[in-house]
Amino acid sequence: MPSESRMTQHLDPRSPWVISTHDLGKRPGTMRRLTLTLPAPADLGVDMIGVPKDAEVELDLRLEAVMEGVLVSGTAQAPLAGECARCLDPVSSDIEVDLQELFFYSDEDASEDDSLLDGELLDLEPTFRDAVVLALPLSPVCRDDCEGLCVECGIKLAEAGADHRHEKIDARWASLQGLITENDNDQEK
Ligand SMILES: [Zn+2]
Ligand SMILES: [Zn+2]
Repeated sequence: MPSESRMTQHLDPRSPWVISTHDLGKRPGTMRRLTLTLPAPADLGVDMIGVPKDAEVELDLRLEAVMEGVLVSGTAQAPLAGECARCLDPVSSDIEVDLQELFFYSDEDASEDDSLLDGELLDLEPTFRDAVVLALPLSPVCRDDCEGLCVECGIKLAEAGADHRHEKIDARWASLQGLITENDNDQEK
């Protein structure tokens, strides 16, 4: 018997990421190639970069019936959009990830983290999501030698010119004065 917590939510066959395995017929060894273009799910990314919602994700998949379930393997390609971690300019690129997931017919064979089929349906979105999040760059940059922003005034250093600098003494005085004022306030309390 499927445990209640895992199978109470049935998959929606109309959801683009829900794929039917009907033609595999649960016959081990049966295989099917599948190329698909699907809209990217929402909220797929980290702080600086991600796959835009509804962007075209190109999937090249192999579905194979095995004893315990259906093995899905293949690749997914998706566009990325975000901002440079150094200068905050827009960044766009592509990502390609490998997908591999065994969807079990029954949770008797599966452990808690494994994916299950819902009848003949499987949901590829969590697999795709996990693969993308692992592959995203933590600090995307617009180009490898991006100089970033001036820490003093925030101007983009690539545009500011090589002789851009600030009088450091002023900045130090400003922060010292801040400290003194704060201490005075503490004493008054
Ligand atoms: Zn940059
Ligand atoms: Zn500056």
